[in-house]
Amino acid sequence: MSYAPIPMVPGPVALHEDVIAVLGRDYGSGQVESDFLCLYDATSRSIGKLMGTKDDVVLMTGEGMLALWGALKSCLKPGDHVVSVGTGVFGDGIGEMAESFGCIVEKVSLPYDCSIRESDLAAVEEAIRRVKPVMLTAVHCETPSGTLNPIGLLGKLKKDLGVPLFYVDTVAGLGGAPVHMDEWNVDLMLGGSQKCLSCPPSMSMVGVSAAAWERMKEVNYQGYDAILPFRTVRTDGRCPYTPNWHGVAALYAGTQAIFKEGMDAAFARHEAVAAQCRAGLAELGIKLWTAPDAVNAPTVTAAMIPEGFTWPEWKEALRRHGLICTGSFGPMDGKVFRLGHMGTQAQPYLMEQALDAIAATLGK
Ligand SMILES: *Cc1c(COP(=O)(O)O)cnc(C)c1O
Repeated sequence: MSYAPIPMVPGPVALHEDVIAVLGRDYGSGQVESDFLCLYDATSRSIGKLMGTKDDVVLMTGEGMLALWGALKSCLKPGDHVVSVGTGVFGDGIGEMAESFGCIVEKVSLPYDCSIRESDLAAVEEAIRRVKPVMLTAVHCETPSGTLNPIGLLGKLKKDLGVPLFYVDTVAGLGGAPVHMDEWNVDLMLGGSQKCLSCPPSMSMVGVSAAAWERMKEVNYQGYDAILPFRTVRTDGRCPYTPNWHGVAALYAGTQAIFKEGMDAAFARHEAVAAQCRAGLAELGIKLWTAPDAVNAPTVTAAMIPEGFTWPEWKEALRRHGLICTGSFGPMDGKVFRLGHMGTQAQPYLMEQALDAIAATLGK
């Protein structure tokens, strides 16, 4: 019997074969910087296409959290007002990150088992009118909760109420769900390489609007996570740090694999596998964490650990049947397990194997 574990962790995901191919290449000092800039430029444009923007996209070495911190610190000063909208651990966490360096954050904290509903917008509007923030923050795909937020609704509020900057984390959505940075009035769109792009956790990407660049010049934040030093990479050819050939080449390969398939086809594949996952779990009597009116993420599903199992017991039992998945955080810790069907892992045959492993674990 051949045995291969079934990878369903919501990041880092199993690498795409085209990504593995470029990681094995040598980009040593024999490569000149102009070649790197060519690759950087093409990759930046490719990420821009996935982000739905004509604005600049900066590619930084480091995992997704780098983009989250860098975009906050590059645009905010202590004492600045921020409104953070949270439907989960990341959404509220971003507010706490801004607080940690002196910003005054108004947290609109919503239930963690639901996505933002139209009826929640009044609370966001009230907070914006009251505190007049420099920045509104939100998360597109709340990975620990398995939900997808309607960012366009917040983007309309941002525009109508004249909020200078709109910051959106789409680390777990980019490449697996449609993203429309320009249409949604987003100024800072944050992505990571290790989720739907099927790369190692080596790169983070930030879509930056003209308004965000202006703000960064004013704040002039200096630090390893500063975004401003990347503003002129594509025009003057100077990278702030050592060019990361492997990281950028992997991202390029990851994006091209999506374009080869077709973006719409890739998004449809994620939706189909997510639906297969939810239907399969329901058949096995496993309840979802999410409320019936939540928008479930196409890239990750959060479900309740069956009665009679603690999380360590459930995890080990699934592992004995070959399924590698993960738990969750915050209020979901110990209650919820998650299947990450993103990038290479959004495949019907893999989901079938995962559901079979769950059934076998339950003795069904
Ligand atoms: C994974 C994730 C991050 C952090 O990305 P890392 O690459 O793990 O640093 C941020 N936000 C969301 C919503 C994520 O799912």
